Amino acid sequence: MTTILVLVEHQNGVAKRASLEALGAANALGGTTVAVLFGAGAADAAKTLGAARALTVDLDAWSPDRAAATIAEAIAAHSATGFLAASTSTGRDVAPRVAALCDVPLYSDCTALAAGANGVEITRPWLAGKLIAKLAPSSAIVVATLRRNCFALAEEGAPEVESLAPVGEPKATLTNVEAKAGGKLDVAEAAVVVSGGRGMKEPEHFHLIEELAAAFGNAAVGASRAVVDAGWRPHAEQVGQTGKTVSPQLYIAVGISGAIQHLAGMKTSATIVAINKDADAPIFKLADFGIVGDAFEILPALTEAVKAARAEG
Ligand code: FAD
Repeated sequence: MTTILVLVEHQNGVAKRASLEALGAANALGGTTVAVLFGAGAADAAKTLGAARALTVDLDAWSPDRAAATIAEAIAAHSATGFLAASTSTGRDVAPRVAALCDVPLYSDCTALAAGANGVEITRPWLAGKLIAKLAPSSAIVVATLRRNCFALAEEGAPEVESLAPVGEPKATLTNVEAKAGGKLDVAEAAVVVSGGRGMKEPEHFHLIEELAAAFGNAAVGASRAVVDAGWRPHAEQVGQTGKTVSPQLYIAVGISGAIQHLAGMKTSATIVAINKDADAPIFKLADFGIVGDAFEILPALTEAVKAARAEG
């Protein structure tokens, strides 16, 4: 039977959604799933995870090198055939180091995994999503990062929890994290994303995007690179090849033309709605629902409609 290790990130003793998806992906492959958690609150976050075992590692300061060395050692100790992490900044920091220590390739930003006759079969976008690659790794250990919102969450469980001592030397440690002002929902974490582009004309008009996002209750504001480069919105909101990759349940693109670099960051969203006054805008080729018209007329009406629908329950 195969064993797969999964990096489970957590905050204040609660596992992150993206990590629960990685755990769900590992469980769906069958075999034994072992969660690995680092730092304070790891034991609390481990208690209800849907994994056979949870390894908690006490790191006084976060170090991707030590995390990777500890995981690589645990892979060897468990004779594991896989290591999965979410495609978060932490996952992207740790997984390549684990792959290097195990001397195997890294499969990054995977959108699907399946158990095939000869091992795990991987699906991942290539060339900013222009191609979808199906890969059949031949390495003894498969190390992969998984795109958010592409995998079902693991159900809760009661793993056997074991505490591990960290190994390796830190080359760099994290000394401080400053919370983003306003505590806004991260565009990469949100179930609904409302993004605005140059069609919003001026930064002052983004209140219309913010109001629609607020009406949903669980939505984040996103932006195209054009408006980020113009200084209208912070880079943290940029969606696309050089911004964040999002895959929410609902993505609403307002006044965004649909350049390939933007699509690369949102094309795996479950439902895509585009609002654009140009009926020939490329975004409509990808959109599930398109509204051709002026964003300044449509946004207030849509916001009212969402509020009314939510009030009705
Ligand atoms: P535009 O292309 O100018 O589109 C504006 C749209 O608004 C038009 O379709 C127009 O019809 C519509 N519009 C105008 N007025 C209204 C109105 N009143 N109501 C409704 N619609 C209206 N872009 C990204 O977004 N993310 C990236 O990460 C990214 N990375 C890049 C990396 C590289 C290497 C390069 C070369 C480019 C990258 N870009 C990225 C830029 C990308 O190519 C586009 O230039 C950018 O996405 C365009 O932004 P936009 O759609 O907001 O603007």
